Amino acid sequence: MPAADVVVVGGGVIGLSTAYHLARKQAGRIVLLEKGPVGDGSSSRAAGITCGLLYSSTGVAARLIGAQIFRQLSEELEGYTYHNEHGCLNTYAPAQWKRFQQLMPMYDRLDVPYEILEADEIRSRWPALSPAEDTLGVLDPNGGYSEPPEYVAALSRRIRELGVDIREGEKVVDFQLDGNRVRGVRTESEVFEAGAVVCAVHAWASKLMQRLNRKIPVKYFVHQRYLTAPISQRLDWPPVNAHSHDAYFRPASGNRILVGTSDESREEYRVESLDFNMSELCTPTKVRDDAARRLMTLVPALKNCVWESEHVGLLGFSMDQEPIVGPVDALPGLFVGASFHSGGFSYNPVAGLLLAECVVDGQTCIDISEFSPNRFHDADVEAHLANTLHQRDVEDRRH
Ligand SMILES: Cc1cc2nc3c(=O)[nH]c(=O)nc-3n(C[C@H](O)[C@H](O)[C@H](O)COP(=O)(O)OP(=O)(O)OC[C@H]3O[C@@H](n4cnc5c(N)ncnc54)[C@H](O)[C@@H]3O)c2cc1C
Repeated sequence: MPAADVVVVGGGVIGLSTAYHLARKQAGRIVLLEKGPVGDGSSSRAAGITCGLLYSSTGVAARLIGAQIFRQLSEELEGYTYHNEHGCLNTYAPAQWKRFQQLMPMYDRLDVPYEILEADEIRSRWPALSPAEDTLGVLDPNGGYSEPPEYVAALSRRIRELGVDIREGEKVVDFQLDGNRVRGVRTESEVFEAGAVVCAVHAWASKLMQRLNRKIPVKYFVHQRYLTAPISQRLDWPPVNAHSHDAYFRPASGNRILVGTSDESREEYRVESLDFNMSELCTPTKVRDDAARRLMTLVPALKNCVWESEHVGLLGFSMDQEPIVGPVDALPGLFVGASFHSGGFSYNPVAGLLLAECVVDGQTCIDISEFSPNRFHDADVEAHLANTLHQRDVEDRRH
């Protein structure tokens, strides 16, 4: 019966980052269990865009720390670069501007850097972009992007070097309980006893937590992003959350363009089995073509592009849209990192830090009560889960 100080379940960026910070904190023997290869869920499918201009003070404070860690990892991890050269640009149509303006006092209070850019300023900084006259832009100088497969591989290598025991092909099927205390997990072949268990299984969480009779109020939605073949024009511009065009895009390695979008009409997706794999998901080509058509005015380089690949995965939105991070009071020994809307990649460096702090220190460097797994009432959770939502029913939150 292998024993560990901490078992991390799930080898996406949230689990990997948690293991990294646990190892840096010398949390003892750390085992990470992943049912497939690491990165098998949304993490390797993500667009990898990072922006700090979020919707809650906890989110904003967390992302400020996250941006520092991305820069540090870019130095530390061999084969990984955080592309922060231009920051991250958000564009808004005039009717959407009010929403951003309502957030500005919070950014000012928290001392978050941002720069407001009118259309001619955007064009003069990045001549390959051509926003309409009435477009407004907000630049986050801390923002940027990563290539997710590069990041997952480099972080996995580093945490192995730091002594984390990564077990791929190990599906957790149940938890070990002593009364209501979580004492470890069971895979199909082994029991892993542990002082603490971190559950970072994203869309599989609802299914796995059923083993503990615990429901989390999270809804999952299919989400997709695409890559063009290499194009001839030099792509010297930032990643853009183009709220104005209901899509996002960024330069990608090999001089490609990455485009992503949501399908507003799509109904939530329910994961029915622990064996679910995201490769089962598909999306109509029309979603890509409509997004590209909308974006062509802003990024003329898309006009003659050839599409090379598509990646389809799931996003998770909690009842109040904020992430779920921290200890589960009713089940001592269990910690959860889930429901990062479309921003789990961006959250991962700081989410891992916060989870490691919860496990090792019992306190966190910022107040994360707004993210607490204990903030929901059972009756509200039941009512929320009984309802079927569409993508358009959840708030449009980008990265
Ligand atoms: C197309 C797309 C584009 C996106 N773009 C961005 C972006 O630009 N920026 C951004 O910030 N976010 C983006 N996201 C969101 C981001 O990808 C996710 O929020 C993030 O990857 C979640 O990480 P995770 O580790 O929680 O989940 P995952 O990467 O899904 O990892 C969970 C892991 O748990 C494993 N697992 C499940 N059940 C078990 C079990 N029983 N035992 C063992 N292992 C198990 C799975 O195999 C999986 O590898 C995007 C998502 C998609 C789908």
